[in-house]
Amino acid sequence: MPDAQKICKRCLLAAVGENELLRSLEELKAALPDEEKADTAEYERRLGICRRCDFLNAGTCLKCGCYVEFRALKKKMYCPGENRKW
Ligand code: SF4
Repeated sequence: MPDAQKICKRCLLAAVGENELLRSLEELKAALPDEEKADTAEYERRLGICRRCDFLNAGTCLKCGCYVEFRALKKKMYCPGENRKW
């Protein structure tokens, strides 16, 4: 029996492991036109903020219900928290 992977509240989906949900997310990310994507540095900056946020719950933002790895990829998107962390 394989070891169960521990998933913490601060995990992004990419850390949860290969599964159907992650594959679907990767397909959505790939389908987003390049001109609508935040650049890599901005994307990583946003995800870094999400990783430290109390509203992150296993890849989902509890403020809006979005998967942060997709929300943060959209250039025009913003953090839905009261203080707009990004
Ligand atoms: S509230 Fe903002 S920083 Fe926190 S998880 Fe949601 S999008 Fe990320």
